[in-house]
Amino acid sequence: MAKVRDYDVVIVGAGPAGMTAALYTGRAMLRTAVLERGFPGGELLNTEYLDDVIGFPKILGYELAEKFAAHAKQFGAEFFETTSVISVTKMPDGYFQTEAENGDLFRSPAVIVTAGGTPIKLGIPGELEYAGKGVSYCAICDAAFFKQQIVAVVGGGDAAVEEADFLTRYASKVYLIHRRNEFRASKILQKHVFENPKIEVIWDTVAEKVDGNSENGMTGLHLHNLVTAKRTTLEATGLFIFVGFRPNTGVIAGHFEHDVMGYVLTDNAMMSSIPGLFVAGDLRSQLTRQVTTASGDATTAAIAADKYITRFKETESEGSSEATREAMESSHISAGGYT
Ligand code: NDP
Repeated sequence: MAKVRDYDVVIVGAGPAGMTAALYTGRAMLRTAVLERGFPGGELLNTEYLDDVIGFPKILGYELAEKFAAHAKQFGAEFFETTSVISVTKMPDGYFQTEAENGDLFRSPAVIVTAGGTPIKLGIPGELEYAGKGVSYCAICDAAFFKQQIVAVVGGGDAAVEEADFLTRYASKVYLIHRRNEFRASKILQKHVFENPKIEVIWDTVAEKVDGNSENGMTGLHLHNLVTAKRTTLEATGLFIFVGFRPNTGVIAGHFEHDVMGYVLTDNAMMSSIPGLFVAGDLRSQLTRQVTTASGDATTAAIAADKYITRFKETESEGSSEATREAMESSHISAGGYT
């Protein structure tokens, strides 16, 4: 039979944002459940090395994930691994009900959703095999590992065009591969690409297969020109794929405010338009998506959630559940706390 568990706060996802939030809510003595569909780490587990986390000049993704998890657990957060969340619903009494795939229900006055996002994959042979070993979905994270190397970028939107330009700070040559003969990227970003002597655009072409081996990672890329039907190979050691990104917001039941791309809009306290539902990390609408920004936003979310829960409990002890819900819907968090 399904269990109902009561917590002060439920955190959905155990990437850098979720683990940072868990550290802070644990440290605030809140009963914290962290629900993670796989194992703690999130995108860190798809990243070979990182060199942009302050204090760690070069660290393996999984090592950093282990350090984050050990640190987060130190303050008492309970981690439920291999526990997929299917929905987070605000109930009429103001509590959230978070439902796991196995039927277990978690009840809490606040939820912090840090479920991240998923880069859209090409779905070609070798792509997943060499992910983190040549194949990447984040130039800011990984460009520095490709100094003086030849890399390929796939896509024709703003992300692909902008990141191709960024990659030339490190790579000796960047091939920008697009399936049509014009980019959808904004003209100003295209101008930078066309003026950059290190970038060569390959039009009307798709990537078909990533070559590599266990010792060297990626060693080459097979291409197919859709107009001439000609097949060629590039001796690239890196492949950066920017064909879109999907925020994992599907678990949030009910309407929440979001931007045109579906990322969750929040206030300065990381609270969404659903009072008590906070978000941090890759599924939040923001300028950039880094480990450090995810952690920073999660810190704010956890501290704000603590204030929200305190206020919720005070209000609950004063009156009916309906009154609690109404009071929380109309209260606002600010630098000074709840008003
Ligand atoms: P987009 O959806 O804008 O572009 C995706 C690109 O990938 C398109 O060129 C598309 O080709 C191509 N593509 C899709 N599927 C495949 C496939 N299977 N094989 C090969 N190519 C494929 O995504 P972005 O991530 O670039 O941008 C998302 C949003 O973020 C946009 O609104 C963008 O403006 C914004 N953004 C803004 C930035 C800025 O202003 N500096 C930087 C980065 C993103 P096709 O064109 O043929 O459909």
